[in-house]
Amino acid sequence: MLEIKGLKVKLEEEDKQILKGVDLKVEAGKVHAIMGPNGSGKSTLSYVLSGKDGYEVTGGEASLEGEDLLEMEPEERAAAGMFLAFQYPVEIPGVGNMTFLRTAVNAQRKARGEEEMSAAEFLKEVRAKAKSLKIDADMLKRPVNVGFSGGEKKRNEILQMALLEPKMCILDETDSGLDVDAMKLVSEGVNALRDAGRGFLVITHYQRLLDHIKPDVVHIMADGRIVKTGGPELALEVEQNGYADILAEVA
Ligand code: ADP
Ligand code: MG
Ligand code: MG
Repeated sequence: MLEIKGLKVKLEEEDKQILKGVDLKVEAGKVHAIMGPNGSGKSTLSYVLSGKDGYEVTGGEASLEGEDLLEMEPEERAAAGMFLAFQYPVEIPGVGNMTFLRTAVNAQRKARGEEEMSAAEFLKEVRAKAKSLKIDADMLKRPVNVGFSGGEKKRNEILQMALLEPKMCILDETDSGLDVDAMKLVSEGVNALRDAGRGFLVITHYQRLLDHIKPDVVHIMADGRIVKTGGPELALEVEQNGYADILAEVA
């Protein structure tokens, strides 16, 4: 589904190399987790995959189902099935959440050459999916993320993900700032989307999210590279011993 080979990225504004050759392959139907110390380049990787400005790819490649991602505009990446849930969801005053969600869904349908969803059709769909995430009708009417609690913002993002039905989902520290109940709801939302045709990349600082979203593969990222790959037991090892042992071992 997602294939990254030798990806090197520097900041556009500064001569600072952040990703120093990332290799990663996420198969359809699998959940891969990336853990790693602060500043190792995890968020940069997700930003670059989404096509965010400010980064320059200096080497390597990244593809989604064999198509070159790095050549695509951000909207084209979304249309191709890429979805990113960020650590800090943006607030959009003046734009109703329901309108925002419907616009996102219809933009994607249009880009895929599919018919737009009618307002009635969309309403039915969004209500059903919101209910399963315990998002109340009021949150659908309010401006996007304005005044939402941390947990509400994350649940809203998972709702967006559920509506867009992406092929490749990247979640960057979706657990940060969530209490246990909100984390459970978000995890259940993610687990409900697990599917043989969909890949997940879950970036997290803490092992506890991975108790709820069970990964197939765990990677450790440090200083701009994936330095170790293993099964779920690798996350437990990090939880118990921190990163020091692993970093010493690979140094
Ligand atoms: P992580 O998500 O693993 O904590 P990041 O990708 O956020 O790591 O950051 C990797 C490194 O790149 C850090 O040293 C960070 O300070 C630096 N960095 C990332 N983006 C910028 C930016 N826009 N300006 C300056 N430094 C940045
Ligand atoms: Mg960070
Ligand atoms: Mg980060």
